[in-house]
Amino acid sequence: MAEGAVVVEKIEALAAAHPRVLLVEDEADIRELIRYSLAQAGLEVVEAGDGVEALEKLNAFAPDLVVLDLMLPGMPGLELCQRLRSRADTARLPIIVVSAKSSATDKALGLAMGADDYITKPFSPRDLLMRAIALLPRH
Ligand code: CA
Repeated sequence: MAEGAVVVEKIEALAAAHPRVLLVEDEADIRELIRYSLAQAGLEVVEAGDGVEALEKLNAFAPDLVVLDLMLPGMPGLELCQRLRSRADTARLPIIVVSAKSSATDKALGLAMGADDYITKPFSPRDLLMRAIALLPRH
Protein backbone atom coordinates (compact mmCIF):
# COMPACT_ATOMS: atom_id res chain seq x y z
CA MET A 1 0.00 0.00 0.00
CA ALA A 2 1.23 3.51 -0.79
CA GLU A 3 2.47 5.56 2.12
CA GLY A 4 -0.23 8.17 1.60
CA ALA A 5 -2.96 5.54 1.83
CA VAL A 6 -1.52 4.22 5.07
CA VAL A 7 -1.54 7.71 6.54
CA VAL A 8 -5.14 8.31 5.44
CA GLU A 9 -6.16 4.96 6.94
CA LYS A 10 -4.48 5.81 10.23
CA ILE A 11 -6.10 9.23 10.37
CA GLU A 12 -9.53 7.72 9.66
CA ALA A 13 -9.07 5.11 12.40
CA LEU A 14 -7.94 7.82 14.75
CA ALA A 15 -10.87 10.09 13.96
CA ALA A 16 -13.31 7.28 14.74
CA ALA A 17 -11.89 7.06 18.27
CA HIS A 18 -12.16 10.85 18.83
CA PRO A 19 -9.03 11.26 20.88
CA ARG A 20 -8.88 14.34 23.07
CA VAL A 21 -6.05 16.84 22.94
CA LEU A 22 -5.31 19.58 25.45
CA LEU A 23 -3.56 22.38 23.57
CA VAL A 24 -1.56 24.76 25.76
CA GLU A 25 -0.34 27.76 23.77
CA ASP A 26 -0.55 31.49 24.54
CA GLU A 27 -0.11 32.76 20.96
CA ALA A 28 -3.60 32.83 19.45
CA ASP A 29 -2.45 32.49 15.82
CA ILE A 30 -0.35 29.41 16.49
CA ARG A 31 -3.03 27.94 18.74
CA GLU A 32 -5.62 28.30 15.99
CA LEU A 33 -3.27 26.77 13.39
CA ILE A 34 -2.68 23.72 15.59
CA ARG A 35 -6.32 23.44 16.67
CA TYR A 36 -7.51 23.55 13.08
CA SER A 37 -5.12 20.89 11.80
CA LEU A 38 -5.85 18.49 14.67
CA ALA A 39 -9.61 19.07 14.47
CA GLN A 40 -9.51 18.45 10.70
CA ALA A 41 -8.13 14.99 11.45
CA GLY A 42 -10.99 14.27 13.86
CA LEU A 43 -9.30 15.03 17.15
CA GLU A 44 -11.22 16.83 19.85
CA VAL A 45 -9.23 19.86 20.98
CA VAL A 46 -9.56 21.95 24.14
CA GLU A 47 -7.43 25.08 24.33
CA ALA A 48 -5.64 26.70 27.25
CA GLY A 49 -3.67 29.94 27.13
CA ASP A 50 -1.50 29.30 30.18
CA GLY A 51 -0.49 26.65 32.69
CA VAL A 52 -3.14 27.46 35.28
CA GLU A 53 -5.92 27.22 32.71
CA ALA A 54 -4.33 24.01 31.43
CA LEU A 55 -4.50 22.40 34.89
CA GLU A 56 -8.16 23.41 35.25
CA LYS A 57 -9.10 22.01 31.85
CA LEU A 58 -7.04 18.89 32.41
CA ASN A 59 -9.30 17.82 35.26
CA ALA A 60 -12.52 18.53 33.39
CA PHE A 61 -11.46 17.22 29.97
CA ALA A 62 -9.24 14.19 30.72
CA PRO A 63 -7.15 14.46 27.52
CA ASP A 64 -5.37 11.60 25.74
CA LEU A 65 -2.51 13.90 24.70
CA VAL A 66 -1.10 17.32 25.60
CA VAL A 67 0.49 19.72 23.11
CA LEU A 68 2.52 22.13 25.20
CA ASP A 69 4.24 25.41 24.37
CA LEU A 70 7.18 26.12 26.68
CA MET A 71 7.17 29.91 26.81
CA LEU A 72 3.90 30.73 28.53
CA PRO A 73 2.82 33.64 30.72
CA GLY A 74 3.00 32.72 34.41
CA MET A 75 3.88 29.07 34.95
CA PRO A 76 6.57 27.97 32.45
CA GLY A 77 5.71 25.06 30.19
CA LEU A 78 8.50 22.96 31.63
CA GLU A 79 7.07 23.36 35.12
CA LEU A 80 3.66 22.26 33.88
CA CYS A 81 5.32 19.28 32.19
CA GLN A 82 6.99 18.29 35.48
CA ARG A 83 3.73 18.69 37.38
CA LEU A 84 1.90 16.39 34.98
CA ARG A 85 4.65 13.80 35.31
CA SER A 86 4.49 13.93 39.12
CA ARG A 87 0.72 13.30 39.29
CA ALA A 88 -0.41 9.71 39.32
CA ASP A 89 -3.33 10.36 36.93
CA THR A 90 -1.18 12.14 34.33
CA ALA A 91 2.21 10.47 34.83
CA ARG A 92 1.90 8.56 31.55
CA LEU A 93 -0.09 11.14 29.58
CA PRO A 94 1.72 11.77 26.24
CA ILE A 95 3.14 15.29 25.99
CA ILE A 96 4.42 16.93 22.79
CA VAL A 97 6.38 20.11 23.41
CA VAL A 98 6.30 22.79 20.72
CA SER A 99 8.92 25.44 21.28
CA ALA A 100 10.87 28.21 19.58
CA LYS A 101 13.84 27.09 21.69
CA SER A 102 15.71 24.96 19.18
CA SER A 103 19.08 24.14 20.77
CA ALA A 104 20.07 20.57 21.56
CA THR A 105 20.26 21.58 25.24
CA ASP A 106 16.68 22.87 25.18
CA LYS A 107 15.44 19.67 23.56
CA ALA A 108 17.34 17.52 26.04
CA LEU A 109 15.89 19.55 28.91
CA GLY A 110 12.36 19.20 27.56
CA LEU A 111 12.72 15.45 27.21
CA ALA A 112 14.36 15.21 30.64
CA MET A 113 11.37 17.04 32.16
CA GLY A 114 9.11 14.33 30.81
CA ALA A 115 8.09 15.40 27.30
CA ASP A 116 7.58 12.48 24.89
CA ASP A 117 8.42 14.55 21.83
CA TYR A 118 9.83 17.98 21.07
CA ILE A 119 8.96 20.00 17.98
CA THR A 120 10.77 23.19 17.07
CA LYS A 121 8.83 26.24 15.85
CA PRO A 122 8.17 26.94 13.07
CA PHE A 123 6.81 23.48 12.28
CA SER A 124 4.35 22.00 9.83
CA PRO A 125 0.92 21.20 11.28
CA ARG A 126 1.02 17.92 9.38
CA ASP A 127 4.25 16.95 11.13
CA LEU A 128 2.64 17.68 14.48
CA LEU A 129 -0.40 15.61 13.52
CA MET A 130 1.77 12.64 12.53
CA ARG A 131 3.67 12.81 15.80
CA ALA A 132 0.43 13.09 17.74
CA ILE A 133 -0.89 9.98 16.02
CA ALA A 134 2.30 8.12 16.93
CA LEU A 135 1.86 8.99 20.61
CA LEU A 136 -1.87 8.51 21.04
CA PRO A 137 -2.91 5.37 22.85
CA ARG A 138 -4.44 2.65 20.70
CA HIS A 139 -8.18 2.65 21.33
CA1 CA B 1 4.52 31.04 23.86
